[in-house]
Amino acid sequence: MHRLVLFDLDNTLVDRQSALSDAVTALCRSRTLSPGADHWLRTELADRATINDFARLRDTFGLDASAADLWQEYVDLMAATVTCRPDVLEGLARLRAAGWTIGIVTNGAGDIQRAKLNATGLADLVDGAAVSGDLEIRKPDLRLFELAASRCGVSLADGGWMVGDNAAGDIGGGHQAGLRTIWLRGRPWPDGLPDAHHVVDDVTDAIAILLNEME
Ligand SMILES: [Mg+2]
Repeated sequence: MHRLVLFDLDNTLVDRQSALSDAVTALCRSRTLSPGADHWLRTELADRATINDFARLRDTFGLDASAADLWQEYVDLMAATVTCRPDVLEGLARLRAAGWTIGIVTNGAGDIQRAKLNATGLADLVDGAAVSGDLEIRKPDLRLFELAASRCGVSLADGGWMVGDNAAGDIGGGHQAGLRTIWLRGRPWPDGLPDAHHVVDDVTDAIAILLNEME
């Protein structure tokens, strides 16, 4: 039987926050940036990062390096520091072995999200990925979910699941896409959104729910 599950990437399958912290520390050391620039980066990149942030960094702190060079170093540092826990990788492998089709639907720049998927080994465990930066559309836009499904060779019309930590983007978007949803609890739940079907503390709990669905 066909079963589709789409996962968010940042702070669902990988811990973006700790990778970000390590990458900013390393970048500031490598470029001998001031504590002010370090603080600025941690604030500005807290939710997302693009090359435009590094153009602003350059202007704000009068750096000589080009935005492209700074961005590339940041991408490389994130790829080097980000990890996917072994128990999460093992859980995904179990899902695949049980016949699940696994996709990634992620908001972010294409180059950095792909670098993370490759560096963590996730690229080998998923059937397809849709990255918002490639198309200038972001979750909760239905089209990004449709793209993820089609890259997995399946259709949203056949249903499936969405797992993520962002209430509006992942759970609201998943609901709009006709998927059942599992929310990784974190930030407060916003008013006016339909409830997730399940709420868990860790993505391995979500994987356990999906494996149970098979029985
Ligand atoms: Mg997330």
